Amino acid sequence: MQGYIDWIRRYNEEKLLKSGSRPTAFTHHYGCQQNVSDGERIDGMLREMGYAFCERPDEADIVIYNTCAVRENAEDRIFGNVGALKHAKHRNPDMVIGLCGCMVQQEHIAEKFRGSFPFVDVLFGPSALPEFPEILYRKLSTGSRVFEILDATGEISEDLPVRRDGDIKAWIPIMYGCNNFCTYCVVPYVRGRERSRDYTRVLEEAQELVAAGYRELTLLGQNVNSYRSGDVDFVGLLRMVNDIPGEFRIRFMTSHPKDCSRELVDCIAECDKICNHIHLPVQSGSDRILHQMNRGYTTGQYKDIIGYARQRIPGVTFTSDIIVGFPGETRDDLEQTIALIREMDYQSLFTFIYSRRVGTKAADMADPIPEQEKSAWFRELLEVQNAISKKRYEAAVGTTVRVLTEGPGKSGDGYMMGRTASNIIVEFPGTAELRGQFVDIAVTDAPGWALAGEIQA
Ligand code: SAH
Ligand code: SF4
Repeated sequence: MQGYIDWIRRYNEEKLLKSGSRPTAFTHHYGCQQNVSDGERIDGMLREMGYAFCERPDEADIVIYNTCAVRENAEDRIFGNVGALKHAKHRNPDMVIGLCGCMVQQEHIAEKFRGSFPFVDVLFGPSALPEFPEILYRKLSTGSRVFEILDATGEISEDLPVRRDGDIKAWIPIMYGCNNFCTYCVVPYVRGRERSRDYTRVLEEAQELVAAGYRELTLLGQNVNSYRSGDVDFVGLLRMVNDIPGEFRIRFMTSHPKDCSRELVDCIAECDKICNHIHLPVQSGSDRILHQMNRGYTTGQYKDIIGYARQRIPGVTFTSDIIVGFPGETRDDLEQTIALIREMDYQSLFTFIYSRRVGTKAADMADPIPEQEKSAWFRELLEVQNAISKKRYEAAVGTTVRVLTEGPGKSGDGYMMGRTASNIIVEFPGTAELRGQFVDIAVTDAPGWALAGEIQA
């Protein structure tokens, strides 16, 4: 890999000498944190290849869209953004347009780009990420298009350069892929089977990040609680990360309810650095639909683990994902979901309208409910959750919350913002020196979707 990076760096240096300006790259990483984390590696490789980063795709020498396949509207947006580059490419025929990520791992999508988007130069799926330098070398040295869709099995590639998005919060991928095959979901097809990173490499990365001043580490995986490296399971790994000396927070996502064990809850309760917040996507409050989704748990089991966590972890909060309008869902199923949401008292929810994904089991299920009705159900659900969230925000007034300061607030000069362990935004009077520091805030107000307060004396 390094040989190709070096070749491209020399190629770019020659361009710099000739034109007087450094070749530029524009990248955008769509979708989940896992994809954003892959994107930080793409950016790392581009930086080593000698590219400077720019803000506008139409002015760049190379554009990389790192795509998402989870829902159709994400895919539509990408088709639109790629289409919009046609004129820029016409003006600058040397521009390289590249696509990678989950969406292009699907054969029918790759074929569409091959046939209908002749100005797309390189295309590669998530498994081919470490091959990116070689793919780009082939494009630059021959001028031909390079489409590289490998099997979605890919060995984990350590040692890829990383250009991280921030200097306070960092993502650490710990496992890739998914074995769950929820019937609506494309992820197992595009990301392949589960594979975990060696725990020693994860620990090294965490230690380096803490030493570099990062204050929040999020361990990432499509199904983090399936992590296993030799004898070390997810709980074992969490305890080791928690033992790293220093002042920092640990988060993880995403947990699957069927693998969210009491041991994991005990671990959160016992480890001082792990946030007392769990994102635990339930998807539906109807056992019939959960079964159709192949989720592997019932609402009863889900409530049990949440109940246990509430008992073990003081102040624990939950967020969740819900799919509205799964094939065959009825009004009665929806009402069960609404009842569950009320009972679970979530901090917030990520709600999605079901999107049919080619090749998944649910794509063949009868889906008689019209989109319009699904949209009405979706709005109804949002309203229920908004009222719950509002009440929870208001209940925080008068309490003290610990906040990791991230940067300037929206209230203007003299204000900073940060987040609580539950990921709630808090604004408070403060100065830039607080960036990256933990502060205790006395909450005085709950305006909109944030809290406001003052640093406690
Ligand atoms: N591995 C994680 C989530 C991955 S995708 C988990 O199992 O929780 C993130 C969310 O997107 C899912 O939780 C689900 O709510 C939503 N999602 C996935 N496929 C979808 C589809 N076909 N239509 C609508 N929403 C979907
Ligand atoms: Fe998709 Fe289910 Fe795997 Fe999550 S657990 S990535 S929803 S198949």
